[in-house]
Amino acid sequence: MKIFTPDYYKEFLCIAGACPDSCCKEWAVDVDPEAATYYRGLPGPLGDRLRSVLEDTQGGTVMVIENGRCPMWQTDGLCRIHAELGHEALCQTCRDFPRIKHDYGSFAELGLELSCPEAARLILAGSHQQSFTIADGEGDGDYDKDVMDILLRSRKMILSFLDTSSLPDPEAFAVVLLYAHGVQGQIDGGDEIAFEPMQCLADARRFSDAGNLDGLTTFFAGLEILTPDWANMLSGPKQACIYNKKLLHYFICRYWLQAVADYDLISRVKFSLAACILIGSLPGDFMRNAQLFSKEIENDPDNVEAILDGCYSIPALTDSNLLGLLLR
Ligand code: SF4
Repeated sequence: MKIFTPDYYKEFLCIAGACPDSCCKEWAVDVDPEAATYYRGLPGPLGDRLRSVLEDTQGGTVMVIENGRCPMWQTDGLCRIHAELGHEALCQTCRDFPRIKHDYGSFAELGLELSCPEAARLILAGSHQQSFTIADGEGDGDYDKDVMDILLRSRKMILSFLDTSSLPDPEAFAVVLLYAHGVQGQIDGGDEIAFEPMQCLADARRFSDAGNLDGLTTFFAGLEILTPDWANMLSGPKQACIYNKKLLHYFICRYWLQAVADYDLISRVKFSLAACILIGSLPGDFMRNAQLFSKEIENDPDNVEAILDGCYSIPALTDSNLLGLLLR
């Protein structure tokens, strides 16, 4: 099986005590059954502490948050399990984070979660060039091969366009949405389309309206919120949007192929564009805003689902509004 890896993935190293946010804050970590059994069987003070903070829920076992942090977090910013028992003793969630893997059976793609500050730094500054290694265990891939073929070709095309286009960023972003509509038509059984950026842009201008940013922020403010920072940012003043092609590149890499699961490319592209517009419109440090967006939205499956569903019913997520925000 081929495993594709972006350059920035290999550069990742957890900065632990120097981390400005930390994955040990705010989240109740899911503990896999094997680790939960191991932790509960440990002798001594660490075992006693773990037994007191592990909680079984309907979805599995979690490490209960105390004072807004994982109870294993120490004031030096390091993890007590890691410090006393080593990396191998961490549960799967903590061993993996922020590394992600999309396994399509016949090939896999690795990436990093934008919700980790150090990963965000690499994603927004590093090279997205992909290389691959060969690993054992190739399967057939339990997906529609024709659709995957369309998605792979179209993603390559649009990423290359983003990397090389001389259009201003918001216009290039609008082209992405119009092109995605053409690809969606192909997925739905239509003919293959030629990629004509200037035609896409002309269509985008025709479909755009005035663009309502308040509607977009109000929609996000109605989703599940983890941190007061995020709530304050959504309700506070906004700025002229900063567009960042590497951010859109990240979203396209992460979500475009996932349309093979339900044949819905458009919602994922709208999700990606809405994310870029929202993040770019929040005042303050762009990287921090992108990281917080990911922590609040990408790491909450309910929020992701609400946005994907909302692409068909929420006025803020219509083509005309997103295009209006990009092209106004
Ligand atoms: S968020 Fe990232 S850099 Fe920070 S502690 Fe977690 S893995 Fe390390």
